[in-house]
Amino acid sequence: MNSPRICVSCQGTVRVTKVIEHLTNHIPSGTSFLHKCSSCGLEFTTESTGRKWLLLVVAALPLAFLVGLSFLLTSMPLVLMAVMGFPSLLIIGRTAKRWLDEHRNPARTRQQAASTM
Ligand SMILES: [Zn+2]
Repeated sequence: MNSPRICVSCQGTVRVTKVIEHLTNHIPSGTSFLHKCSSCGLEFTTESTGRKWLLLVVAALPLAFLVGLSFLLTSMPLVLMAVMGFPSLLIIGRTAKRWLDEHRNPARTRQQAASTM
């Protein structure tokens, strides 16, 4: 996670500029890494594997509750679905974007790092 990456825009070197250790009620809940390209200034965030899974589980719980509720109720108010589902979809979308950024800007191999020195 901390190793230099290859910028998707300019093929420059992307380095970690900030590491954020997340705590939820004093319990470690994963790490976020802020990256910045030294050539073009592209910035993106990636997350540790544990944090990705934690956020996906936390986001999926309200959606699972909504699906269960939709089987119990004959008609579910649209406002209730939007209020309960929207935050989950935001978290899932953000996690998916960070995962995509991680794969679009791959880590440099030792050979690639040696050739740029
Ligand atoms: Zn770049």
